[in-house]
Amino acid sequence: MSELLAPQLLDCPHHQNCPEQQSLPLRATTLGGGLTIARALPHRDRRLIGPWCFLDHMGPALSTGPRTINVGPHPHIGLQTVTWLFEGAIRHRDSLGNDLEIRPGQLNLMTAGRGIVHSEQSTSPAGAILHGAQLWLALPEAERHQPPRFEHIESLPQRREGAARIHCFAGRLGELQSQARCHWPLVGAEIQASDKTTLTLPLDGGFEHGLLLIDGQCHHPGGQLDKAELLYLGPGLTELPLALAAGSRLLLIGGIPFEEDVVIWWNFVARSQAEIVQARDDWQQGRLGDLPGHDGPPLAAPPLTGRVKGGR
Ligand code: MN
Repeated sequence: MSELLAPQLLDCPHHQNCPEQQSLPLRATTLGGGLTIARALPHRDRRLIGPWCFLDHMGPALSTGPRTINVGPHPHIGLQTVTWLFEGAIRHRDSLGNDLEIRPGQLNLMTAGRGIVHSEQSTSPAGAILHGAQLWLALPEAERHQPPRFEHIESLPQRREGAARIHCFAGRLGELQSQARCHWPLVGAEIQASDKTTLTLPLDGGFEHGLLLIDGQCHHPGGQLDKAELLYLGPGLTELPLALAAGSRLLLIGGIPFEEDVVIWWNFVARSQAEIVQARDDWQQGRLGDLPGHDGPPLAAPPLTGRVKGGR
């Protein structure tokens, strides 16, 4: 890191009154198809950042052929899924009839609302790299019972700063406004540096944020970002100076703190144990929709044992 210009910690304008910072270690888990992924949210110490309630960093992994990622038909309620790839391609099919491939730079935003079923299968050939992120947004009360919908956006707003390229795929970052239809004040962005560079991200002071290092090296005013952590930054920051090594890639998420007390279980975001029990039963009884013609079995909901956890 010595060749990097670190933002000046002692001269940091936020240093005198630094917002809360918290390092949330990622944990390894496995996707359908067997790919190992790093899960950042939910975390036992922080279940949501803004409305973001789930964050998986998938790969980078070498594809062994189509369906290295193979997640069979499964339901969602009460959330939006946000899929953003760095490398490779994934085929999405859903119970609304959508069937398409997503590639880097494109966004899949699936609004589950009252219920949707989808499958995800990588299509990259053997030897290709699979690398991306899937995130979930909790839907607020007024929106969570809406009919399901799906948006595939080919091109998202971006700008350059120094050797960095900033893509805003959800919500707003400074003057960049994503056209994706979200339902809460939030940001989701990717920052990529083709060469060593410094930049300052404009932040909304009312937002809390999370910063995830995907590749490379990143200095922030609090120190050096570790690839094994999601760095939480509390509300109150209006800018974030960063120093990036060549080839670095970051995800920034954030939003107004989500005040509703959500219950997250399996693929469902709800408000109570009773709603989870109902949604699980609805899925098992085929009431959340299906994927006609899908050539693999649907996922069975895990057994519901004990009480599911609510609250942040
Ligand atoms: Mn899903």
